[in-house]
Amino acid sequence: MFEHAAATDVGRLRNHNEDSHLVVELPDGLLCAVSDGMGGHAAGEVASRLAIEHLAAAARELPAGEPALLRLQTAVQAAHAAIRAAATGGREGMGCTLTAAVWRDQAIELLSIGDSRAYRLRATSVEQLTEDDSLVGEMVRQKLLTADQARSHPARSYLTRALGVGTAAEYATATATLESGEVLLLCSDGLTAHVADDQILALVNGAATLAAAAAALVQAANEGGGSDNITVVLARARRD
Ligand code: MN
Repeated sequence: MFEHAAATDVGRLRNHNEDSHLVVELPDGLLCAVSDGMGGHAAGEVASRLAIEHLAAAARELPAGEPALLRLQTAVQAAHAAIRAAATGGREGMGCTLTAAVWRDQAIELLSIGDSRAYRLRATSVEQLTEDDSLVGEMVRQKLLTADQARSHPARSYLTRALGVGTAAEYATATATLESGEVLLLCSDGLTAHVADDQILALVNGAATLAAAAAALVQAANEGGGSDNITVVLARARRD
């Protein structure tokens, strides 16, 4: 039903990988997610793993045919509480991004917190489906920065929302449609800090398989500097 591939890499400058990701084939679709942890002393790994574990549990209980967003929101609230409860003993302030998508037929339900992105990749166009919950993301929306300037801005990693930080989980939801052959990409900012949208499109469309595309995206991010952990999840509906 779906072709999918994922890749994650520590990058060139970090000594551990705080990103987590998930791809689950549902009886009637696909659930995928990327989470990018933050916090010192490996706390980011704990936060992103907690977020993904809660989503994995929700995936096992998703009723076929029913809208998924309500279940995702419940899982996100539980993950938020779990991260806060675990933020002790040097892990104070840990948190993570989360971008999750449930894809059934041609409809995608999205939930996002932070600056991990979802993209729709077509034959000749690329479209970001999520908004960055970040200081530079806000400045781009206010036309104070271009996307290129945001990519290299010194404050580019400052998030305005993160899972596990603050009293309540705040997130955005969205829906989108994808036609057969179009590709869904979820990624952490370790990709988008170094690889522009049009380059992402060219690399994915130029690859023979999604697995090759995932490897090419990680390689491009590393060649661009590899300043952060890099995670990509790619999926497309198979042409039947
Ligand atoms: Mn990151």
